[in-house]
Amino acid sequence: MKIAEVAFPVPLPQGFHYLVPESMPVSAGCRVRAPFGPRIAVGTVVSLFDGEPHRPLKALGSLVDPEPVLPHELLECAVWMSRRYAAPIGECIKAVLPAFVKPGARAAHRVSAPVSAVARASDPVAPFVLTSGQDRAIKVLGERLTQRKFSGVLLYGVPASGKTEVYLRLIRRAIAGGGQALFLLPEISLTLPFFEEFSASLGAPVALWHSRLTPRQRREAWLGMASGEVKVVVGARSAALLPFKDLRLAVLDEEQDESFKQEGQSPYYHARELAFHRAQSWGALAVLGSATPSLEAWRMARQGAVDFLDMPERVSSSARPKVSVAPIPAGQALSQELIERIKIRLARREQSILLVNRRGFSTVLLCPKCGWVARCPSCGVAQIQHEAAQDSGALFELRCHHCSHRESSPALCPRCKTQGLRAAGVGTQKVMAELRRVLPGARVLRMDQDTLRAKEERIYDRFLAGEADILIGTKLVAKSFHFPNVTLVGVIDADSMLHMPDFRASERAMQLLAQVSGRSGRAGKEGEVVLQSLKPEHEAVAKTIDGDYAAFADAELSSRRHLGYPPHTTLIRLVWSGKSEETVLGAAEKTAEELRAKLSQAGHEITGPAPAVVRMTEGKPRFHLLIKIPELGEIERAVSAVRACAVPSGVKRTINVDPYDLF
Ligand SMILES: [Zn+2]
Ligand SMILES: [Zn+2]
Repeated sequence: MKIAEVAFPVPLPQGFHYLVPESMPVSAGCRVRAPFGPRIAVGTVVSLFDGEPHRPLKALGSLVDPEPVLPHELLECAVWMSRRYAAPIGECIKAVLPAFVKPGARAAHRVSAPVSAVARASDPVAPFVLTSGQDRAIKVLGERLTQRKFSGVLLYGVPASGKTEVYLRLIRRAIAGGGQALFLLPEISLTLPFFEEFSASLGAPVALWHSRLTPRQRREAWLGMASGEVKVVVGARSAALLPFKDLRLAVLDEEQDESFKQEGQSPYYHARELAFHRAQSWGALAVLGSATPSLEAWRMARQGAVDFLDMPERVSSSARPKVSVAPIPAGQALSQELIERIKIRLARREQSILLVNRRGFSTVLLCPKCGWVARCPSCGVAQIQHEAAQDSGALFELRCHHCSHRESSPALCPRCKTQGLRAAGVGTQKVMAELRRVLPGARVLRMDQDTLRAKEERIYDRFLAGEADILIGTKLVAKSFHFPNVTLVGVIDADSMLHMPDFRASERAMQLLAQVSGRSGRAGKEGEVVLQSLKPEHEAVAKTIDGDYAAFADAELSSRRHLGYPPHTTLIRLVWSGKSEETVLGAAEKTAEELRAKLSQAGHEITGPAPAVVRMTEGKPRFHLLIKIPELGEIERAVSAVRACAVPSGVKRTINVDPYDLF
């Protein structure tokens, strides 16, 4: 008998088996209607096989698509993702098969309107000479590309080493042979400049892909990639889930960036792994580019799982920026040292960038008398004080950075009713206010999530055009933007990044410091970096001063090995939430007990359950637990042990393999 495994978009681990009526010409990747519980639901056929069912099976109802809507390779990718991340197969299929894909749909004739080929001011001046690093990278990678079999390469290029030019030439070569290229970037705001540059210089259809496209744009890009009409896609994380006709090259730029890991919603996949998996399926070349590679990629390179290629010279003749440390002044954001250096730039008509860890005004509002802290009633995390909208009449309001909760800032302590609540910590708005006071003539712009969402105007373009002297921002300003006139970078509080309760804190701090330092002195001018820190002896701060990322990464890898942390081990994070704290905690404790009994002997370590740092979701208590799986340990064993544990009704449990968000 012919049996079909069908996946429905529900959070259940496996698909369901149905009998295939003899007359039905169904194949894997087709959608079907089938009885599912009391109703008829639409699902996707994952596989077909011949067999004798152990129990009576229902028959498939009818066929939705006469031909598979999911190409075979993409279907296989969904199945792989479901196994790798212990994610429900139906959710994985949903992630690769968007709702707009209608039966028999075809790509529109003109897939991507050519973008006006205006060269940006940031373009390298043509004609230019390749550095020896660029030249070697293009040769080596170009040869790999023509071999038409999978290979992975870590391209380790210092900031301003000209990686974009290498990418562009590789893409050109990939599509010249009739193939397609996938180009992934960590940030939606970065995709547009690359899309414009590639569209203008490749002379082939390029598509843009991210979560904020219109449904029509998404539809055209998806179908264009599937049909092979579109040759290149420039996109954020989820572009790794697009269909391809002939993939030859996959590039992840800034591969260390955490936004490549999907966290908010299942499947919790990592775009780096997906890009590798898909490059393997297609026999394509996968390139991971970074000036500050993730320890995951660093370890792969050290072990020989990917090849290592470095580009040690900057494109322009300018040297690495000079890095110095200034103490963090008490009660203020800007040290005298930093202010003096900004004044020098103002006099020379050069620009400065100031990196601040948090958006908002101050990072915590507390009562010095009774210890009350303003927390979000929905998440339980400390709220951030923001300047209030001008028409609200108040000076400040409180905002939660985890959810959209806002409230007015109290004048009295809600608990002990005393006056004099203290706003501690420095956010972007406080730095802005302080700069206006000490340097009233300076023109200042701010770039953080608030400004990017709230305003259509492109701060990037305005700063590039010289409309401001100083750009204040969160880690967004450290990303790949190229501002030739920037010669000073100030880091307001280098220490605050090191104190996060997370084993990746040093790695993140080092990457951010190295990246933002790389923004200074890019076009032949001498650059300078001032780190405000009270702990200049810390590894990440010290190595930023030396500019030695490789030494940092090697040291950090061995310290992670010593402590038994990823990338040497695998973590699985379980999170429970629900209305009743008793039921939620009870379920978590019971699971912990069962997992210890089943997994401890195999060397798996169970930590928790404990209240999560984000204590609640929508006011419901949250508890979490970590399973640490030793090197070469079996993830499947842990996952099936977890799945065997009961989840009481009213409780939601998520399984996140290799979590980046531990809060
Ligand atoms: Zn109080
Ligand atoms: Zn909240």
